Amino acid sequence: MISKKLKALPTKLRDNLKNQPRLFGTCIFYDMQKDQCGIHSVRPEVCRGFGYHKDLVCFRKPELATKEPLTFKEKPIGYLSIDFTWKHF
Ligand code: SF4
Repeated sequence: MISKKLKALPTKLRDNLKNQPRLFGTCIFYDMQKDQCGIHSVRPEVCRGFGYHKDLVCFRKPELATKEPLTFKEKPIGYLSIDFTWKHF
């Protein structure tokens, strides 16, 4: 889904997202310029749950983390930025 989304992006937008300088460990899809997820509609399950579950508290709005710990439906396959980089997409 992520690959499909990235391939559908206009080249200029894709290249802009890809080439933004990021601190080590920052997600490769985080849009530093817009301060938002660059693949929001297809972001992974853990990202969808972030901020809303007791085990995934966001420091910006900790009061929203009221749901029970997230039970994953997707099987973890690795970490973005470490196991998966732009060369995989
Ligand atoms: S961590 Fe998840 S929500 Fe954040 S930028 Fe990356 S894919 Fe998007």
